[in-house]
Amino acid sequence: MLKGFKNSPELDFSIPENKEAMLKAFEQVDKEKGQDYPLIIGGERIMTDKKIVSIAPSTKEVLGQVSSCDQELADKAIQTAHKAFQTWSRTPAEERICCVRRLVDLMKKNRFLIDAWSIEESGKNWGEADGELCEALDFFNSYIMHMRELDKGLELVDTEEECKCIYIPIGVGVAVPPWNFPLSLLAGMVVSAVITGNTIVCKPSSDTPIVAYKFVELCEKAGFPDGVINFIPGSGSVIGDYIVQHPLTHFVNFTGSKEVGLRISQKAAEVSEGQIWIKRVVAEMGGKNAIIVDSSADLKRAAAGIANSAFSFQGQKCSACSRAVVLSDVYDAFVEEIVACAKELKENQGSGRDDLPMGPVINQNAFDRISGYIETARKEGTIVFGGNYNDSKGFYIEPTVVRDITKDAVIAKEEIFGPVLAVIRVDSFDEALEVANGTEYGLTGSVYTEDREHIQKAKVEFHVGNLYFNRKSTGAVVLQHPFGGFNMSGTDAKTGTRDYLTNFLNLKSVCEDLTY
Ligand code: NAP
Repeated sequence: MLKGFKNSPELDFSIPENKEAMLKAFEQVDKEKGQDYPLIIGGERIMTDKKIVSIAPSTKEVLGQVSSCDQELADKAIQTAHKAFQTWSRTPAEERICCVRRLVDLMKKNRFLIDAWSIEESGKNWGEADGELCEALDFFNSYIMHMRELDKGLELVDTEEECKCIYIPIGVGVAVPPWNFPLSLLAGMVVSAVITGNTIVCKPSSDTPIVAYKFVELCEKAGFPDGVINFIPGSGSVIGDYIVQHPLTHFVNFTGSKEVGLRISQKAAEVSEGQIWIKRVVAEMGGKNAIIVDSSADLKRAAAGIANSAFSFQGQKCSACSRAVVLSDVYDAFVEEIVACAKELKENQGSGRDDLPMGPVINQNAFDRISGYIETARKEGTIVFGGNYNDSKGFYIEPTVVRDITKDAVIAKEEIFGPVLAVIRVDSFDEALEVANGTEYGLTGSVYTEDREHIQKAKVEFHVGNLYFNRKSTGAVVLQHPFGGFNMSGTDAKTGTRDYLTNFLNLKSVCEDLTY
């Protein structure tokens, strides 16, 4: 049992003061809309001519323009981080921890404003946005706790020599987060790097650069020295390979799609001229997560959990359920239940700002991709609910349930990353496990059952990084459900843990013969 750590509680927006504060934060966001945001390299703010335009997915409104980094400025950022590493890496852990503690306080003080920006820029509802902020706080607090332990070094056997094995930082890191958790994943990558004494160059997603900027601004206020955290928004296709392949880059911390993750892995493995180390890559990637429902399951509970896993944040979580694998004898009854849940959600779809259970998908590309999959689903199975989409005012797609999908169908295999659920019929629990394991991914999974034997079997045979029983497959909480995937879902990082921090540390073994 882990003692001395508490998860941060989410805000209760039914409390009038919280609701009022949130509405005020939206007013502030409205005042800030349309601004230009710079890169931040070594504390210097740099505006470029080329801009990334941030668009609100709920309304298509322009939220602001963010300077876009080119390769020359990316080089400057990495050189700056390299220089800052010379002093930051030798700064005592307790001083680094002090900066993170101040960051925790600043995040809490600016909580409503950050939530409001996240809602506008990523299309989350209030609870999802604040849940994400709590996850970021949990990452910070857990990394503070782990760093204190790691700073003691490894315990070794006693000898007449003085032997120590100490953790030391490794160098300049590159952080490449996705847009769907624009705050917590980016913040977790940045803080895990710098608390361990590394310096970081952070390239946010081009869909959510303003939330990222707001976070980096708080890092500056928290007192991290110039050059320790550098902010270089820019297109992945323009500067992505460059920052990964730069000879001074020591590690890459990536979360995003399988395609980009594999590319980064490959590029990082090639040794650039002047590079004298093997780069480390943490790559957390996509999923095609299944939830099994067996004949003993409470179907109402299963449908509610699956609807939440498949449709909350419009299915745009890596942990989202996109396949319900259901035993034949309860298949029809389950479909009825899941349709009832989807119906309720559809009636409550709208902008994140209106705090409805379902909002828009992130952008036009995602809208086109997901609606394309819906058309494929129409041919591969029967759409029993949803199937409509509309991008006239924002990027809205109905929660969509497709039945009679075979295990080899396109929508049973490929990551859709949208609110589309394939319901697959199986004849036995063994077949259910085979289907659940039958994709190249291995991120999350869940089983609804009241059968102990099935639970035991699935614990061994369901091959995913995060396995749940009788609950949804989303909503992993820091240090309750350490998160990271198997197979093509990633390098199994298990964020929030002490092991995670060791990705960014070397162990130096030092021995002195005291008899000399
Ligand atoms: P993405 O398209 O792979 O982009 C992720 C990040 O990579 C973005 O910052 C992107 O920049 C950047 N990038 C693009 N090309 C690059 C290159 N050649 N080199 C370096 N960086 C490059 O993914 P996304 O659409 O943002 O996120 C959705 C995906 O993330 C889904 O597959 C989801 O399952 C996965 N995800 C996984 C986890 C997990 O923990 N396993 C968590 C969340 C999301 P631009 O924005 O400028 O293109």
